[in-house]
Amino acid sequence: MGIAIIAGTRPEILKLAPVFRSLKKTALEPVWIATGQHGDLAKQALDAVDITPAFTLSGGWDPCSLTNLSAGLLYQLGRWIEKHHPRAVLVQGDTATAYSGALAAHLNKVPVGHVEAGLRSGDTNNPFPEESFRRLIAPIADFHFAPTRLAEKNLRLDGVRPRQIWVTGNTIIDTVLDMADHVSAPAILDQVKPGERIILLTAHRRESWGEGIAGICRAALELIRLHRDIRIIFPAHSNPRVRETVEAMLGATDRIHVIAPLAYPEFIAVLKASHLVLSDSGGVQEEAPSFDVPVLVLRETTERQEAIDAGVAKLVGTDPAVIVREASILLTQAHAHGRMASRKNPFGDGKASQRITGILARKLPAGKELRQAS
Ligand code: UDP
Repeated sequence: MGIAIIAGTRPEILKLAPVFRSLKKTALEPVWIATGQHGDLAKQALDAVDITPAFTLSGGWDPCSLTNLSAGLLYQLGRWIEKHHPRAVLVQGDTATAYSGALAAHLNKVPVGHVEAGLRSGDTNNPFPEESFRRLIAPIADFHFAPTRLAEKNLRLDGVRPRQIWVTGNTIIDTVLDMADHVSAPAILDQVKPGERIILLTAHRRESWGEGIAGICRAALELIRLHRDIRIIFPAHSNPRVRETVEAMLGATDRIHVIAPLAYPEFIAVLKASHLVLSDSGGVQEEAPSFDVPVLVLRETTERQEAIDAGVAKLVGTDPAVIVREASILLTQAHAHGRMASRKNPFGDGKASQRITGILARKLPAGKELRQAS
């Protein structure tokens, strides 16, 4: 058994797909394990990256209970690892799947590689539970693939040994650059009139459920009222806690389109066509600078300070007055928009997966244990 790649949510799938493809070119024999943490969103993402999982967990947990979900994932991933004995396990980011996969591997003395290691907001309630999951993975991972120098620094501050950290870039840049020439325009773009500017809106974070999402919706309504030449496209997360608020507040508004989650090639087509992004998504913040689209981050804290420092994103929170003020500056002041749009993407160069593969190929020589090799 080669390297098990464990993924269950849309961002994990999009970010591990290029690593899987790159590893397939080597003798490391990657095996894709789908946990099913995200149902339809995961299927849509797997189709977009053209991956058929070798194994899919049976599920049966309650996705609304973090303890039930984490325990179910740990149990089923643990059983799979005990049966198949992979040479190593790769997990990505900060989900219940990533944490349970890392712990299940660690408890079975299987080496753990953590892709997108070292992101820190400094607040375990923001984003919740992601900040906790990624912090909990750090002490049990053997390979820490940090996307940036800042992530490397965070890991060192957590006591991770420098020789177990590699700065690789973020693998989402590999995915987005690969997709950039294969986008497929969704029907919603046909409704955009000549001269109109698109604002792409996404919001799904757990800590924003309720009041936060309501504030974001109020901002969208005010922006539409103030700016006659904008159209807001909101592919709303399938989570019922998000959809209920969004559909109730924005459902029937002229020039606001609340639509189902878009397939990745369609989402990137809308992103490329957008003037501005309002989002609380991590992945979208990383992708937008590749297309020179400024991002206003709908969160109180960030673990992607690189985007703020590079000037490609600005942290605005969920207070409608602040969102409207900052978005209006970018909609009315060309130089302010131009300044954010002209900066380089700080998250990578599209070669992160190659680097990760090279490191694993060096550190996991045939037939030897990582712990001996590293
Ligand atoms: N995405 C997508 N379709 C959509 C919305 C987002 O394919 O309708 C992609 C987006 O390009 C990004 C990823 O999903 O790569 C982000 O996922 P999400 O916002 O759910 O998670 P996060 O990145 O915040 O962990």
